[in-house]
Amino acid sequence: MEHEKERKTSEAAFTDEIRSQLGGETIALCYQCGTCASSCPVAKVTERYNPRDVIRLSLLGQKQEVLSSDAIWLCSSCYNCQERCPQKVEIADVIYALRNIAIKEGHIPNIYSEFAAGLMNEGRIVPISKFVEKKRPEYGLPPLRPAGLDALKKILTATGFDKIQWKKEGAQ
Ligand code: SF4
Ligand code: SF4
Repeated sequence: MEHEKERKTSEAAFTDEIRSQLGGETIALCYQCGTCASSCPVAKVTERYNPRDVIRLSLLGQKQEVLSSDAIWLCSSCYNCQERCPQKVEIADVIYALRNIAIKEGHIPNIYSEFAAGLMNEGRIVPISKFVEKKRPEYGLPPLRPAGLDALKKILTATGFDKIQWKKEGAQ
């Protein structure tokens, strides 16, 4: 009885946490019909991602499983699911809410840590390759330099982006 009460409390706590995030407000409307999964182009090509499963596990309070898995990072934000959900669950936005919670709790895939470092240091998320550096003069183009860093830093500071611990997973 006590165990059942604890289970319900942890389910409700995670659902409430998601609903309190921007984009996560509608998660509890899901009745698990599966329309999202059958509309999802990512779910068609990999078994590692199924939006219905992500929502189900979240509503069941499986916080660590949801936040530490790579599934929430595989959504391509195409919004197919969101347009078709009969319950008007804003699924793609729920996934954003889950990503935001994951980031706050330090579950950040390495590739995103690298993007963040590139953005903060160079003003771009994709580093300039040696190939591009070499080719630009051949086309009469100047070397690429960090651009607009001062303005960008103001935005990153104002939004709290620079306060996030962008440490790589597995790093100490
Ligand atoms: S389509 Fe909507 S109601 Fe159906 S499983 Fe997906 S989120 Fe839930
Ligand atoms: S928004 Fe994400 S979950 Fe929805 S259909 Fe597109 S890839 Fe799938």
